[in-house]
Amino acid sequence: MDYLDICDDFYFDIATQVCMESWSQGRVVLVGDSGYCPSPLSGQGTSLALVGAYVLAGELKMANGAYMTAFERYKTLMSPFINANQELGMLVNQTFLLPGGISQEEINIRTKSIMNSLENAAYVKNLLNYD
Ligand SMILES: Cc1cc2nc3c(=O)[nH]c(=O)nc-3n(C[C@H](O)[C@H](O)[C@H](O)COP(=O)(O)OP(=O)(O)OC[C@H]3O[C@@H](n4cnc5c(N)ncnc54)[C@H](O)[C@@H]3O)c2cc1C
Repeated sequence: MDYLDICDDFYFDIATQVCMESWSQGRVVLVGDSGYCPSPLSGQGTSLALVGAYVLAGELKMANGAYMTAFERYKTLMSPFINANQELGMLVNQTFLLPGGISQEEINIRTKSIMNSLENAAYVKNLLNYD
């Protein structure tokens, strides 16, 4: 806190997730944070955006013009990866970012729980090859 007044690149923002029932309307479709931002708390937003763009492009190619089919498959294929990362963000929010005064033992337990969840969220499973 003492350095806030002299720091010249202080960053302050709220941490939010974007959770939408649908990522598309007509021919418009969302990719990345606009559709499924996990919040910086999960630290995986760039991966979701890149994998999302890859899957969407691949599905559009496979659908051969049937963009509605591509959008549906994009959501179906991406949802488990996105859910795992949004759950990780919630876990970090609920278990780690708490007021001080907790014991080192408690910190270790919470860190372990986050690392287990991260292992599950870090890799997208069954990523298709669209070559
Ligand atoms: C503090 C912080 C730390 C983070 N740390 C990590 C991390 O460690 N690892 C990780 O993977 N992710 C991290 N993220 C998340 C990551 O930055 C985002 O998930 C990722 O950038 C999302 O990419 P995107 O392309 O969807 O959106 P963005 O990168 O936000 O790109 C959207 C672009 O659209 C532009 N734009 C907006 N409106 C308009 C408009 N009307 N017309 C034209 N252009 C427009 C914006 O200027 C922006 O350039 C962090 C985010 C924050 C805020």
